Amino acid sequence: MNFIEERILKDGIVAKGNVLKVDSFLNHQMDISLLEEIAKEFKSRFNDKKIDKILTIESSGIAIACMCAKEFNVPMVFAKKSKSINIEGDVYSAEVESFTHKTINHVIVSKKFIKAHENILIVDDFLANGCALQGLISIVQQADAKVEGIGIVIEKGFQDGGKIIRNLGYQLESLAIIDDMNDLTKEIKFR
Ligand code: 5GP
Repeated sequence: MNFIEERILKDGIVAKGNVLKVDSFLNHQMDISLLEEIAKEFKSRFNDKKIDKILTIESSGIAIACMCAKEFNVPMVFAKKSKSINIEGDVYSAEVESFTHKTINHVIVSKKFIKAHENILIVDDFLANGCALQGLISIVQQADAKVEGIGIVIEKGFQDGGKIIRNLGYQLESLAIIDDMNDLTKEIKFR
């Protein structure tokens, strides 16, 4: 069992609606030593890649992405949730359905911060249905940049996102993959 799996078993809470709550170490209170370890693990998994920039999505990916940016010694950019539906010409944008809130968010990245031919590492806390990742991949493609890899802390393997993203041919590295979890028994099974 790796360090993320151990921490999920110790402090994760299986909630209703296929949601794993990790508020005590990743999503609300944050264990910075754990975030450092996560960044080191991504660095070792993508060690053969030239990474120019880390990209994530507001808000829970930001802390993870910061640590990764420090580890890779590159800038970090996060896609912002935008209230305005008007798409200004100076941003890349994508529509992302929020898994936890069931709302559609319009996310944007300024054209200033992703340039053509940059090599991008996308990171996020969770992978469920893959909407967030597909939005981020679309933004990288709009910029004519390249997705060099994708790092996820917790993939819920019983949802379709992992399959969809791997079928697109990306190197997707998930530190923990949950194959099953039960909100009644609280049991969690890892791949
Ligand atoms: P997807 O877009 O892959 O369906 O969902 C990924 C996004 O939804 C992540 O950015 C994450 O913030 C949120 N998310 C999905 N599943 C969970 C979950 O079980 N627990 C928590 N805390 N967030 C989740």
